[in-house]
Amino acid sequence: NEGIGSWPTRRARKTPHRTALVHGDLQYSYADLHERSTRLAHGLRASGIRRGDRVAYLGPNHPAFLETLFATGMLGAVFVPLNIRLAAPEIAYQLHDCGAKALLYAPSCAELAGDGPDVTVEVGPAYEQLLADAGTDPIDEAVALDDLCLIMYTSGTTGRPKGAMLTHGNLTWNAVNVLVDHDLVADERALVSAPLFHTAGLNMLTLPVLLKGGACVLVESFDPAATLDLIERHRITFMFGVPTMFDLVARQPGWDDADLSSLRLLTCGGAPVPTSLIATYQKRGLTFLQGYGMTEASPGTLFLDAEHAVSKAGSAGVPHFFSDVRVLAPDGSPAAPGESGEVVVRGPHVSPGYWGLPEESAAAFTDGWFRTGDAARTDEDGYITIADRIKDMYISGGENVYPAEVEDALLAVAGVAECAVIGVPDEKWGEVGRAVVVPEPGVRLDPEQVLAALAGVLARYKLPKSVVLVDSLPRTASGKLRKNDIRAQHGS
Ligand code: AMP
Ligand code: MG
Repeated sequence: NEGIGSWPTRRARKTPHRTALVHGDLQYSYADLHERSTRLAHGLRASGIRRGDRVAYLGPNHPAFLETLFATGMLGAVFVPLNIRLAAPEIAYQLHDCGAKALLYAPSCAELAGDGPDVTVEVGPAYEQLLADAGTDPIDEAVALDDLCLIMYTSGTTGRPKGAMLTHGNLTWNAVNVLVDHDLVADERALVSAPLFHTAGLNMLTLPVLLKGGACVLVESFDPAATLDLIERHRITFMFGVPTMFDLVARQPGWDDADLSSLRLLTCGGAPVPTSLIATYQKRGLTFLQGYGMTEASPGTLFLDAEHAVSKAGSAGVPHFFSDVRVLAPDGSPAAPGESGEVVVRGPHVSPGYWGLPEESAAAFTDGWFRTGDAARTDEDGYITIADRIKDMYISGGENVYPAEVEDALLAVAGVAECAVIGVPDEKWGEVGRAVVVPEPGVRLDPEQVLAALAGVLARYKLPKSVVLVDSLPRTASGKLRKNDIRAQHGS
């Protein structure tokens, strides 16, 4: 087994007694992680899970999340992490789309899980019993780096979310990139408060640390007030967060007096990092490393190291060690320094495509280059600054929202004739949604009722925070919404 599923076994061979995972009062060594993942693999196999089968996981950060990833990796099965912030119909769609054969879910997500596929296991006593009943013989399944490891859903400009396929090789090379560019050490103690079901929490933080033999402190849900305490108590060395998380932590009453001396690596990414936030951390002697990436690239793509954090502030850095990035002018040629163009990325960490969507895959990945839909400029030294988005998307608290999905849901609300959703600046969340709505003729729409109609249909973070009623929306001759005009008029 060349894949991720072999990592606990390889670690248990080298550093069995070192701590791998901490979760509340639980502590698992690498030997524990190896044994528990192996038991789970046997348990899943006994439930009928075979190579290639999709096994979904729905829950907050917990050792069982990683045990399921490693167990599926041992079997050559495919792990599908689901976002607990989604609404039930969105979860049902993803389970159906990937053809999940099994679902492991946290008790807090039982309702969200719905009926689920044939095999369902609640993470709790039932899960522990499954492990207790299973054996510990090594699982001998040939898994290659090119084999599919996981499917991670990401929304898009065309309505439905797409499952980005990531191979064992993709995740391995991404972890190597993080290791090399962050100078990770075996004594790393990571605070995993970013969700594992998103690419960054899993791949920028947890997997690289486990590869190196460090410890991961798993936090069920991010709590800014508890974060300072956790850093002190566990002598945390490494954190990853989206800007909103770091901003909330710095606003805590204990911020000025907290002992942050253990922190060595603070990576901020997933959304543009405000320079005011960089300055706030600088005042406490802390330097952000900055990352730019996306689910389809496992995700590490650009990285700004500590040495250049100040001199190149505002930039997202240079490509990771095993990553190639180009900025292309509209005609497809490389953009000159200072000129804006689309970011494309190629490398062993880039996904082979979307699950079950050959045409969309062919359009997004050409000759191995993934078209990101982000606009950027390169400076004379090769540092790349993300300048804008070509794709219609905004980021609210680190969660990406594609207006197309919200507009589809809005059009299904009684009384809504036309609508456009835009992202507007927000101090706490970076951006929040605003719906610009044209009511059906003669209908008096109540903005509150429009929003209430979307609850339970869409994840809460996708719900617009405000509604503006208008008589008409500007469109192009071909009928497409003029989003730039709408943003200019209603965007502040
Ligand atoms: P996701 O697939 O959810 O990780 O989202 C990827 C997208 O988030 C990218 O294509 C960018 O639009 C945005 N993004 C990620 N990191 C950054 C960053 N450091 N600065 C600006 N935008 C970012
Ligand atoms: Mg994101």
